[in-house]
Amino acid sequence: MDQEDYTLDIVVQGFPGKAVCHGGLGWSTIALLRGRGRVALIDVGSFGQRGLLIERLAARGLRPAQVTDVLLTHSHFDHSINWVLFSRAIIAIGAEELDWSVTEPWGETPVPELYVRELQLWPRLRRLHEGDAALPGLVAYDAPGHTPGHLIFVLSGREHDVIFTGDAAKNRAELLSLTADMTYDPKVSRASMERIWELWGRRPGTVLVPGHDVPMVLEDGRPRYIGEREAAISAWFGEDLESTRLFQLR
Ligand SMILES: [Zn+2]
Repeated sequence: MDQEDYTLDIVVQGFPGKAVCHGGLGWSTIALLRGRGRVALIDVGSFGQRGLLIERLAARGLRPAQVTDVLLTHSHFDHSINWVLFSRAIIAIGAEELDWSVTEPWGETPVPELYVRELQLWPRLRRLHEGDAALPGLVAYDAPGHTPGHLIFVLSGREHDVIFTGDAAKNRAELLSLTADMTYDPKVSRASMERIWELWGRRPGTVLVPGHDVPMVLEDGRPRYIGEREAAISAWFGEDLESTRLFQLR
């Protein structure tokens, strides 16, 4: 889809679920914006998504060194770790988010301790505040609750806007119920989600890209998915590597 002079592309689709017996699943959304001389990623995923991200960028004719900007909604590992792939990029994150992240106790949270410590030292680090244009035409807003310095990004397009909500609203169920599965304060998360709804309702056709779900638009005030869910697991339950069993997660 074209946003004035940007093109939006969901490179990896987020998944709204958790592993039952293996801890966090962390399948998060990675979005690509191209235009105005910029190649920008909004969130960059975790280790498990690293090879896939490189492959999918290559399929679009891009090498990691061509990425000019990485915008992080928040510091959690499943959204942030792959910033280290982008050697030439400006890495932008909320100032408050980064300050908080580096003080989190080691070994206790989803904050990748060493990655945020290194990020502080990155020569092309950009510390964002509410109202900053993270890219031309794309503004950062505070949306705390999931983490204290979580940002959402709103792109003003010619035909419609795009809101990147990260984990301030991870999925459709959170948006509809105004409750969050992971929050340090449900009231703070609720206020952020109400803010998202307000931004979402401002212009018809505005696309919402959540941190862990398929993008949506509003239709008669209700979210409607745009695009098919893409998620599956292939398992070796047989006696050789050729025998696989596919589990569709739809
Ligand atoms: Zn998160």
